[in-house]
Amino acid sequence: MIYKNYINGAWSEKISAGGFKETFDNVNPADTTKVIGQFQNSCEFCIDDAVESASEAFKTWKNVPAPKRAEILFKAAEILVRDKECIAKGMTLEMGKILAETRGDVQEAIDIAYYAAGAGRRLTGETVPSELENKWSMSVRLPYGVIGMITPWNFPIAIPAWKAFPAIVAGNTVVLKPAEDTPWSVIKLAEVFHEAGLPKGVFNVVTGFGPTAGMPLVKHPKVKVISFTGSSATGHLIAKECSKLGKKYSLELGGKNSITVTKNADLDLAVEGVIFGAFGTTGQRCTACSRVIIDKKVKKEFTEKLVARTESLKIGDGLEDDIDVGPLINEKALDKVERYVTSALASGDDLLTGGHRIKMNSGWFYAPTIFTDITPDNALAQEEIFGPVVAIIEYETFDEMMNIVNGTRYGLSAAIYTKDINESFKFMRDVETGLAYVNTSCIGAEVGQNFGGIKDTSPISSREAGSQMFDAVTYVKNMVVDFSGKLQKAQIE
Ligand code: NDP
Repeated sequence: MIYKNYINGAWSEKISAGGFKETFDNVNPADTTKVIGQFQNSCEFCIDDAVESASEAFKTWKNVPAPKRAEILFKAAEILVRDKECIAKGMTLEMGKILAETRGDVQEAIDIAYYAAGAGRRLTGETVPSELENKWSMSVRLPYGVIGMITPWNFPIAIPAWKAFPAIVAGNTVVLKPAEDTPWSVIKLAEVFHEAGLPKGVFNVVTGFGPTAGMPLVKHPKVKVISFTGSSATGHLIAKECSKLGKKYSLELGGKNSITVTKNADLDLAVEGVIFGAFGTTGQRCTACSRVIIDKKVKKEFTEKLVARTESLKIGDGLEDDIDVGPLINEKALDKVERYVTSALASGDDLLTGGHRIKMNSGWFYAPTIFTDITPDNALAQEEIFGPVVAIIEYETFDEMMNIVNGTRYGLSAAIYTKDINESFKFMRDVETGLAYVNTSCIGAEVGQNFGGIKDTSPISSREAGSQMFDAVTYVKNMVVDFSGKLQKAQIE
């Protein structure tokens, strides 16, 4: 089936200058012989069309009362609830994570839809007392206009929803370029909005590749804000372009997250936290646990439990009921994981389990992999591999542990397992991340909680969801009325 772009409330194809239709195939990573569909390989002309339609739509959408805008989002939420199972199955086919997780992905979109729609009645500003008599001052949050969104493939609906829903409720219009590996899921979102009755041009989807469809969106003069989630490399490129153009941007980039297991930890609970954190979504979460930092005193006992539990995981097609870990997203990702493992083995690093591809239905499968006795400066402990690979690092003192946890360029998520309350609070205060967890895994964002990182994960510390969800997509305007009937001069009178 050929899927089209969603521009100005209608489905459109990309026609090249020579009159040729241009599409690309999207395949099932669990069985690469199965093609999900053909998608538009869009270029800057499609982006121009979409931005023009979004720009036109903004003229009226910005003045629709926010509670009315929110009503459409409530309808979209109901459609997502109705279609949850169908979308989740399609998403597993498209990007491989197991069905329980793709159901969670759709649920996150449902949650943010209700959350952002509810906030449509609470888009509050503030009133500030003036220094002068008979003078009134207040501030309101206003939309920017067209927001360009570029999203990754690992949360194909949740991330677009986290970005687009608050933006739309706040009165902006959107042009979204999804990852080339997950266009289907975002096309579904467009279908949902279409059915919900969103006016034409408010939400537009243009599929295609980063440099040819994503970058023209970044550079388009009518796009006022770029909201990006993806790798640090692409994020820096986008930040550079936006800075040149004086354009606002928000970035959610890579991570090198850790779980600390102290001698006071419930080890069985910690094992479950690491399994979910490291191998959920096949290790392809920005918040994935790729470092386990373990107190030397419990290392042996914990490691034995962790390896046994890892070896019990069932790898396969995420649509099957009893599967724990699906495939990697694509061949490039599989090669990257293999490169890191091969290089670690060549350097003499100690492999405890995994470390090899799994041949199954021509899918991109890799065995959950654990290395131990890794030093904090090892590539396995520093670089984002984005696959099912964990490095175990030993520590002896609390301060040493904190230095290891904080000793990477990233700052997204970190967890500690401990029954010592003092230790847990010290950890939460001193850890250099945007997300800190105690006695639970380093993954598991919820829409009511602000999400994002510091350091190279989010160089400008932008946040999504939670109470800060409108910050990237609105600006504050201060408005003053002087009803004294004379010219009053602040600071001078
Ligand atoms: P990429 O940076 O490769 O791609 C992300 C998006 O950017 C895709 O839509 C991609 O298009 C597009 N893109 C690529 N190159 C350009 C370019 N030159 N100009 C404009 N757009 C471009 O990241 P991945 O998709 O591989 O996602 C994985 C990364 O995302 C990991 O580093 C992960 O940590 C991070 N991530 C961060 C999250 C956070 O909240 N901090 C959440 C989820 C993921 P195309 O698909 O065509 O390449």
